[in-house]
Amino acid sequence: MTDRAVSADATLAHAGSRRQPGAPVVQPPQLASILASVGQPGDADYGRGGNATWTELEDALGAIEAAEAVVFSSGQAASMALMLALARDRDAILLPRDGYYNARALAERLLPYGAGPVLVDQDELAVIERELAARRAVLWTESPTNPLLRVADLAALARLAGAAAAPMVVDNTVATGLLQRPLDLGATASLCSLTKSASGHSDLLAGAVLTRDSGLAAELRSWRTLGGGVLGPMECWLAVRGLKTLPLRVERQSASALAIAAHLAAHPRVTAVHYPGVCAETLALARAQMPRGFGPLLSFEVEGTPADAEAIVAAAALIVPATSFGGVESTWERRGRWPGESAAPTLIRLSVGIEPAADLIADIDQALATGLGD
Ligand code: PLP
Repeated sequence: MTDRAVSADATLAHAGSRRQPGAPVVQPPQLASILASVGQPGDADYGRGGNATWTELEDALGAIEAAEAVVFSSGQAASMALMLALARDRDAILLPRDGYYNARALAERLLPYGAGPVLVDQDELAVIERELAARRAVLWTESPTNPLLRVADLAALARLAGAAAAPMVVDNTVATGLLQRPLDLGATASLCSLTKSASGHSDLLAGAVLTRDSGLAAELRSWRTLGGGVLGPMECWLAVRGLKTLPLRVERQSASALAIAAHLAAHPRVTAVHYPGVCAETLALARAQMPRGFGPLLSFEVEGTPADAEAIVAAAALIVPATSFGGVESTWERRGRWPGESAAPTLIRLSVGIEPAADLIADIDQALATGLGD
């Protein structure tokens, strides 16, 4: 790359690439647990402390949000390190009642080591302000939420956190830093499960924390080195490869998801659609916070029983019945099949892939016709 500043999109296209004559343009993964060394040890002498390929991944992620990135072996490993680092000497972690359910479960597990979870509604700013004034807390937010795709006012939440001197985390997994930049809105840390859209090919687990607080970044690295939640070089390499096409993927997925959400909203068998682009109450906020698109994930509820929803999921010919989201291939599932998930019983969560929207709509329509008129 040249020294001239270029867009995050251009930086991502060149992530991990070199322009030295005779050297491979794309560097192979550094498959090493140890490096030969003499004298004082360095970070990468032993693979739990560093690796050239994970540095490439961290550089690419850091360029998206102009921040330091610390990568972990999964989104949950990143969340665990972040909770442990931030909750020390604090009484509570305020978490969204309707966010990713395993964040709540993790906070419960970490209670003996720090602050306990307190569940809040992200749109109840007065309640959150009171909670932040009443205790020394971490404000853990998520927007859009998984699986209801609710949009929280991150700048307003950051103002409340700032006034209470509380660190604020945004789980940015659904949007990724390309569609939404939480640190610009005042967050202390932006968390991303790279398992989803960021890597985008359903072939690895990984997570990252982005922050402009170098003390926090150092603390996270130390939790990673001691706790051992390190990401293997091959996963780092695949994640860098995936990041190169992130802008193209999320652009296409966002456009298709919006078209599909509008189509579903007019479908007689659908009783509710959840997507930032079709939610009138938060549309202006969503447009301001996510100017490039609303991402690949949407959910909708169908009339009937959970078994009817399962039958619809099973009837798809193109969309793969599977969990997770953000992959190039569309996937869907009845979300309530997971114990611990609080979604409505007939809610189907759809991750829109890169297939043409018309193909997806045709598949959805034939699946929604399942069981009708039999
Ligand atoms: N955050 C959100 C919003 C998620 O949906 C997930 C996983 O589904 C995670 C965090 C955890 O990520 P991982 O599965 O990579 O541990």
